[in-house]
Amino acid sequence: GFRCGIVGLPNVGKSTLFNALTETAAAQAANYPFCTIEPNVGNVAVPDARLNQLAEIASSQKIVETQLAFVDIAGLVRGASKGEGLGNQFLGNIREVDAIVHVLRCFEDGDVTHVEGKVDPIADAETVETELMLSDLESLEKRVPNLGKKAAQGDKEAKVAASVLGQALDLLREGKPARLTKPKDEEEARAFAQAQLLTSKPVLYVCNVDEGDAANGNALSARVFEKAKAEGAEAVVVSAAIEAEIATMPPEERGEFLSELGLEETGLARVITAGYKLLHLLTFFTVGPKEARAWTVHVGAKAPQAAGEIHTDFERGFIRAETIAFADYVALKGEAGAREAGKLRQEGKEYVVQDGDVMLFRFNV
Ligand code: GDP
Repeated sequence: GFRCGIVGLPNVGKSTLFNALTETAAAQAANYPFCTIEPNVGNVAVPDARLNQLAEIASSQKIVETQLAFVDIAGLVRGASKGEGLGNQFLGNIREVDAIVHVLRCFEDGDVTHVEGKVDPIADAETVETELMLSDLESLEKRVPNLGKKAAQGDKEAKVAASVLGQALDLLREGKPARLTKPKDEEEARAFAQAQLLTSKPVLYVCNVDEGDAANGNALSARVFEKAKAEGAEAVVVSAAIEAEIATMPPEERGEFLSELGLEETGLARVITAGYKLLHLLTFFTVGPKEARAWTVHVGAKAPQAAGEIHTDFERGFIRAETIAFADYVALKGEAGAREAGKLRQEGKEYVVQDGDVMLFRFNV
């Protein structure tokens, strides 16, 4: 599965957000740094209105959303790259996630201690990013010379890695994140991805604001949005406190509560949707009378890979995929209508799955 790691300085609202995300009390929120010591993993259903539409057309008995995993990563403080706080553990946990959800405190509250003494989300973001850059810098300063030696002895893989990681090292030395590295071909891109550098991962900034600012954000979150835009990152405004409240409400009461606050959807829905976008994922569907189900693949995945998400046998014995675009499925009121209109396509091994495809796989066992 795909994993987003929730990071940020202590007391910015990570645990509150994580709890809301997973609707569990697994991670205890408290006004105390280092409260979340073990990484907690929660699977979250990805909201998708299209799934309900498909289920209605096909009279499916059950709806199964696709899921995204969130990992609440233990507290980072200034100096983590030198082993301060839970430094090394923290950095190791980040290495294992696909994307970073960086929570920034954009609320003022005299009762909640700020570890750096004042509320400044840009400075906080830089503190965290600096620790990540220092950690990458330190690891590459050891790895690149070693790769260089191996490359000189004729190791081709090492040569590729030395070239692309050398570029990353130069960037880090200039105080820039490794994600600005430009691999020159597929081989370099693979070597770069394998290096799992902390600052190569895509980032979503979550501006945690007070209830009153949940609809429109505030001056602090506006600055975070500017920063995100300049970096090609994503940003969303969320009030973790509101989300925590919503998480405890019966679903039928949530809509009214949200509209009273001027909100169209939960912050959670926005975080999940942005996380999904950040990871370059797309959704395809399988639809039948028993269930309508959403599945996740990387953008660019081909039909057999999509089949493999459902079952490895489907991938191994893949023959073809009967595919209907979401819009056609809806406009023609289902599979039979789509088939009659010639909109049910027979797609082979090389077919690149499109977001919203309704697919039925034919395979040999
Ligand atoms: P973490 O250390 O980043 O995981 O932060 P927590 O989620 O434990 O939150 C730290 C403290 O800030 C707790 O007392 C929360 O109740 C409080 N808090 C979290 N979000 C908000 C918010 O949006 N507004 C206010 N006023 N307090 C919040």
